[in-house]
Amino acid sequence: MASARVSRAAVSMGFDLGVFALGLAVALPSLAAWQMGGGGLDLLDLVWIALVVVMSRFPLLLTHKSGDIELGFETCILVFLVLTLEPREAFSIWAIATTLAMATQKKSWRSRTFNIGLTLLGAALFVSVVTLIDPGEDRLLALVAVMTGCAIYFAFDLLVTALSLALEDGVGLNTVLRWGSVPLGLACFVSVDTLGYLAWLLAGQPRWTLLLLLVPVGTILVAVRSVSETRLAQLRLVGLLEAATYAPDWSDESQIETSLVVQAERTLRHTKASLRDEPAQSHEIGSPIEIEGRPTRHLVVGHQLSGRGFDDHDRKALAALTAVGVSALNRRRLSDEMVYLARHDALTGLHNRGVFSDRLTQALESRGQRGLVAVLYCDLDGFKEVNDLLGHDAGDRLLVLVAERVMTCLREGDTAARLGGDEFGVLLDTIDDHAQADAVAHRLLTALEHPFETGDQQVRVRVSVGIAFSGAEPTTAEMLINCADTAMYAAKARGKGCVERFHPQMRVAELDRLELEAALRDAVREDRIRVHYQPVVDLVTGRLDGFEALARWNHPTLGSVPPDVFIAAAERIGVIRRLGIQILERAHLGGRMLSDAAGRPLSLGVNLSALQVTDAELFDMVSEKSTAYDDVRLILELTEGMLLGDDPHTVEALHRLKGSGVRLAIDDFGVGYSSVGYLHRLPVDILKLDKLFVSELHDPRSHALVQGVVAMARAMDLSVVTEGVEDWQSAIAVRDLGCDLAQGYVFSRPVHLGAALALAESGWIDVSEMSPAVAISSHG
Ligand code: C2E
Ligand code: CA
Ligand code: CA
Repeated sequence: MASARVSRAAVSMGFDLGVFALGLAVALPSLAAWQMGGGGLDLLDLVWIALVVVMSRFPLLLTHKSGDIELGFETCILVFLVLTLEPREAFSIWAIATTLAMATQKKSWRSRTFNIGLTLLGAALFVSVVTLIDPGEDRLLALVAVMTGCAIYFAFDLLVTALSLALEDGVGLNTVLRWGSVPLGLACFVSVDTLGYLAWLLAGQPRWTLLLLLVPVGTILVAVRSVSETRLAQLRLVGLLEAATYAPDWSDESQIETSLVVQAERTLRHTKASLRDEPAQSHEIGSPIEIEGRPTRHLVVGHQLSGRGFDDHDRKALAALTAVGVSALNRRRLSDEMVYLARHDALTGLHNRGVFSDRLTQALESRGQRGLVAVLYCDLDGFKEVNDLLGHDAGDRLLVLVAERVMTCLREGDTAARLGGDEFGVLLDTIDDHAQADAVAHRLLTALEHPFETGDQQVRVRVSVGIAFSGAEPTTAEMLINCADTAMYAAKARGKGCVERFHPQMRVAELDRLELEAALRDAVREDRIRVHYQPVVDLVTGRLDGFEALARWNHPTLGSVPPDVFIAAAERIGVIRRLGIQILERAHLGGRMLSDAAGRPLSLGVNLSALQVTDAELFDMVSEKSTAYDDVRLILELTEGMLLGDDPHTVEALHRLKGSGVRLAIDDFGVGYSSVGYLHRLPVDILKLDKLFVSELHDPRSHALVQGVVAMARAMDLSVVTEGVEDWQSAIAVRDLGCDLAQGYVFSRPVHLGAALALAESGWIDVSEMSPAVAISSHG
């Protein structure tokens, strides 16, 4: 390939130089013979030479749809010389004149040498033809001789130029030869050159009279020049206008590039244009194409062999054309970007729901040939907390990282999309059985298991996956996505971080869930959630320390809904903050009445959901209440899981809450994240030991653990509240382990305010069952 190109270039160069050499070989002996025969240049000869040089600077540009022709008028001098002088002398003067004219043109050395050779050979042909016809003084014969000579000269010139171009471009002669322009060129060439013949007719007069011809010739030249210039300017304008008109229709980048090249060749005639990385060389002109974020390319225009030189107008035209191209490319890029944005999720770069649904529809339509289609609906567990506790930037970073991991679980041809906030969809349309989809789902679970680095934080999330398959009955994309969504909720209900396949019974559960959520929304709007109070008791004396407030919801048709269930639902549907405020308000009111009844300050535990820790409204309320009422000693109860390690936002919020004068308790201590390392960094006052420990106190290991926790709490100056004390035996056991306070059914179940007031009024819980001796002594 490369060698073919090299040899083609060599052949083309050889041809051009060959023409030059041949021209010299013909001209030099003739010049020598003329010189030896006593020939020399007189003043008039110098005038002819000067005239040739000047006239060659003013070619006439004939534009034609099949190619432009540049015609020099200077050959009319050759015609005159041949008719008036002896052939050798005529040829010699012409050879000198034309060599001078060509050599001083502003073109590449190669086109100059080629042109010299070509003109010398053409002139030799012309002189030979006229000499052969030998018209003598016969005016008619002379005309015939001149016209024949001109036609042959023209044909020769045309053929050799075409050959040279064909060789250079490596194309056939027919592609280069523009037959359409031949008759017009021939007609002009012949008629212009007969000017020389007319001059010869005057030759009977004194020779100086010929100089009078300079006046019309000069006028013609100036007119020709301005016509040619105007014509060129017009062509440039037309070219630019065309480019600007068509540019909006150029549809893709490669079309824009080819159109630019074509348009450059049309605008700047006699040229070869290309789009390339290197800027213009010395004999070319070029204009850079600068598109943001791409390497600069150059639209470069070079001469063809016979071309004119470039001027400032050409440069400006090229720059204007490039500007059209740049704007077309920018527009293209913008619309590509818009198409991309319309099909992708801006944050993660995954496809969006629309594309997912389209692909699923296609897959369902062509299922006949390809078998099974599966949709995996994935929802992150714990994303809300990350977003809330670590901020939205961290949440966004996490989503991007999750998207990357999701992609690693897929094969080529599978589609992943972001379907909503923290929801991702995976479409598998090339699987053979259900187990393959399960395998992908489990790959996803495993892939998301490792912690994510979001800036300076390590975050863990899990994912719940629901799978739905296309079945025997026809379904739509939307229906299948909904089924997968339902299965995902079932996975969440089963305990999160797992996979569920859709089955129709799930619909029932889903309807229940939706009904519950709707009812809860109403209940929160109407402030219908109540509070019950469970006493916290001093294990040694039975003295009432205070109460824990526990939310209660009794719905007319749904019945009494457990708080874990509706608190989780409130988090899901986004009403938890409002509900939390309502509960705090109500519980605190009750707390004040309870303290009143007891006649002394009582503690009041209120449970917080993770999303409430950073809630500003809650903070304001808490600080207002704790300054206004010192008879209610507020305790905020948080679960370990909410603390998410060392998150600075949470830690700061906790310090702020603590600073407003409340105490903080860690609820369900011992069952969540078992790292106790964070305890000394958090402003915690109370550990609430999970009821699990009490129920397993008969197990020596549980026993030892409670002992250890109590010792640690002592060392850190924390109080311990044991929860879930259901019988006196356990109560005695935990008391003997050194716990200060306890809660449990054995003392009292959570009760409504009225019953709690009665308890508060007495101020004591009867613990005589535990150890009469202790109970009596403390009562005394
Ligand atoms: P928790 O904070 O650990 O509350 C203690 C739970 O243990 C209460 O269940 C209580 O009725 C129950 N309990 C008390 N003594 C005993 C006992 O001797 N044996 C047994 N087996 N259980 C006992 P409840 O009221 O169903 O609350 C469940 C959970 O719901 C609470 O656990 C708490 O995490 C959450 N919750 C309740 N009210 C609220 C609230 O107002 N806000 C928030 N965010 N969460 C709440
Ligand atoms: Ca609690
Ligand atoms: Ca608890």
